[in-house]
Amino acid sequence: MESVPAGRKKQPNVCRECHRVVEGEACALCGTSNLSTDWTGYLVIIDPEHSEIAQKMNIKLAGRYALKVR
Ligand SMILES: [Zn+2]
Repeated sequence: MESVPAGRKKQPNVCRECHRVVEGEACALCGTSNLSTDWTGYLVIIDPEHSEIAQKMNIKLAGRYALKVR
């Protein structure tokens, strides 16, 4: 088990292209390493085909996404 010090929770990387939360060095969806830690709005898409927000954001794969990436 890994413990995270209080108040220093690490912001995950998100892909600047598709807004997907990325674990690692590159986006699993686009293959790009164009990532950002400066984002807001955590979005979990479970069923993209029946999710209004997923269609609005053009998300076709279930997963975790950021609403806004700077
Ligand atoms: Zn991507």
